Amino acid sequence: MLSGPEACQAYYERLLSRREKLDYEIDGIVYKVNDLGLQDQLGYVSRAPRWAVAYKFPAEEATTALNSVDFQVGRTGALTPVARLEPVFVGGAMVSNATLHNMDEVARKDIKIGDTVIVRRAGDVIPEVVSAVLSKRPAGAALIELPDRCPVCSSPVIVSDDVAVAKCSGGFNCSAQRRESLKHFVSRKAMNIDGLGEKLIDQLISRVLVSRPSDLYKLTREQLLELDLVAEKSADNLLAALEASKQTTLDRFIYSLGIPEVGETTAKQLALHFGSLDALSNASLDYFVPTGIEGIGKTRAQRIIDVLNDAPDMPADNADQQVLHEWLIANLKGVRETEVSRLLARYPSVTTLKSLSVADIQSKGESRVEGVGGTMATFIVEFFTNKDNIDEIKALTGAGIQWPTVSSPAGNASLSGNTYVITGKFNTMSRDEITAALVAMGAKVTGSVSKKTTAVICGEAAGSKLTKAQSLGIEVIGEDALEQLLASAGSAD
Ligand SMILES: [Zn+2]
Repeated sequence: MLSGPEACQAYYERLLSRREKLDYEIDGIVYKVNDLGLQDQLGYVSRAPRWAVAYKFPAEEATTALNSVDFQVGRTGALTPVARLEPVFVGGAMVSNATLHNMDEVARKDIKIGDTVIVRRAGDVIPEVVSAVLSKRPAGAALIELPDRCPVCSSPVIVSDDVAVAKCSGGFNCSAQRRESLKHFVSRKAMNIDGLGEKLIDQLISRVLVSRPSDLYKLTREQLLELDLVAEKSADNLLAALEASKQTTLDRFIYSLGIPEVGETTAKQLALHFGSLDALSNASLDYFVPTGIEGIGKTRAQRIIDVLNDAPDMPADNADQQVLHEWLIANLKGVRETEVSRLLARYPSVTTLKSLSVADIQSKGESRVEGVGGTMATFIVEFFTNKDNIDEIKALTGAGIQWPTVSSPAGNASLSGNTYVITGKFNTMSRDEITAALVAMGAKVTGSVSKKTTAVICGEAAGSKLTKAQSLGIEVIGEDALEQLLASAGSAD
């Protein structure tokens, strides 16, 4: 009889061979320590238990014909090539569409229309085209071409040099982008508005009742009742859900705005760091990334300075930003387009550019907001300089959307040098929120009490950490005192 890792491996292989014959879908095995005492001892790494580990089976694959390729337009305008397939059964479901991710992937995998392709599907993940079976390529296999106009709104498609993504330039004029931003706005992790499914959103858009999220809050009962498939009860429920969504949190609101690249976690970081929408919308690129241009090292910084100092044909001081942008791209060899954009966002005029030194450009500083690098910071700053976005935010708050104050204002580092340990249960904040609030103010949070601990933050039902703090004579802060600490640190700025 096998035991230990060998037994686990043998079980894995046995189950894998039986997988196809099972009446249900499985994607792998979870091995667990089956002793509660040992589980306690092993504990958790962040949210994952040390006493359980998953071993996934390989994703299932199947072969089928790629009939055609369509381009889907996402929330930010990004065009994604989608393969239309001869339906095939894979991973427990019938699959007729699969993502090709982007045009770089299409080129890298050398996939053509008419090819026999290998399709992979695992769990809830969107099926993808893995590769083409080149030996079966028919004579007439056609190249997959990026359209030069958006398939939905016909606006020109823009492709930038160094990102694989092609984008529709239509913005809010593009109904696909409007639809996707509305879907994002109402989604569970954003404003969480129940009862606003895709079909309803499509009707609202096609009847021009709603084009921006703020329009949702102007909908009347009468308008809703005129829509297909909306009964009195569902109209009332939807109006109630819209009303309820007005009481939200700052991080949800930031997430719901749909700033490119800003996901749920970043939205939380931004809310905790800035504490208010005003502070966030006023933050400059300099604020996020204190020195230099992200991605530019010393050598390239020197090369940029050389070009800028020795360029007789540099555009005039009053030149258009676009002209300056193009000139820089043409003249700064080896500097990527996103880096030029960052450079211009920080130093927008010819005069400033000519007066720069290596130190102004060379990337040194870590971002002041955890997880927000130069690219994301550029998106954020651009978002809040766009007047349409500001008007939309005003319309949303004007409709009554509000959130409780967040107590950790921008750049406050008044707790720096302090180390805290958090233990027990809290009523008003989760332990994650407390950790994030303290970290945002420059403090360190650790898991064990030592002489170096500044204070132990202690909720209800605290155990051994409280005892240890008391035995070492370390300050103990209760929930009320914690709120005071966060508030006083906030007012020190
Ligand atoms: Zn479009």
